[in-house]
Amino acid sequence: MSIDDLGGLDGTCEREGCGKEIRYEHLTYHPDWGYKKVGSTCIEHLTQKDKKLSGKVLACYRNISNFVHSSDWYQGKTQKGKSYIGATHSYDLIRIYGEERRYAFQVALKEKGRNYYHYKDIVRVPGKTLEEVKELAYIALKGVTTKDIEEKAMLRNLYKSIR
Ligand SMILES: [Zn+2]
Repeated sequence: MSIDDLGGLDGTCEREGCGKEIRYEHLTYHPDWGYKKVGSTCIEHLTQKDKKLSGKVLACYRNISNFVHSSDWYQGKTQKGKSYIGATHSYDLIRIYGEERRYAFQVALKEKGRNYYHYKDIVRVPGKTLEEVKELAYIALKGVTTKDIEEKAMLRNLYKSIR
C-alpha cells in the first residue's frame, strides 16, 4: 500500500517469525491477516504468497476497497433525529453513527420485493477511524448477504483480523 523511509533502523518487521529492525516500512494489507508493516526482504515473500491466493479472495478484497472509496456516502438522520453517515449496497443499507474513534455501525437488509428493511443490531467499534468502520460495516453486510460459503468464511476471518 505504501513505503515509508524511517531514515534509520527504527522500525520492526511484523512478518511472523521475522521481527528484524527495518528502515523501509512497507505497509501491506492481506485478507487473511489485515495490515502489517514489513521490511524490503519480507515484502517479496508476502508478494509471492499473495499470488497464490485465489482470484476470489483478491476480488473480494478489491470489492471492499471499491465500496469504501467509491460509494456515495451521504449524511442522513434517523426518524428520531440521530445523525449518521450512510451508503447503499445493491438494495441494502449501511449506517455509521457517532464520531471519530467512537463509531458504531448498523446494517439493514431490504426484504425482497418489498419496501421494508430489517435493521440489524448496532455494533460499537471504539478506537476505529471512519475508513476502518466503513470497511467493517461492508464486510459485515457482505458476510450476511453472500450465498458463497467460501466468501463468507473469508469475510469472517477478515472481520476478526481488523475488528
Ligand atoms: Zn522481515
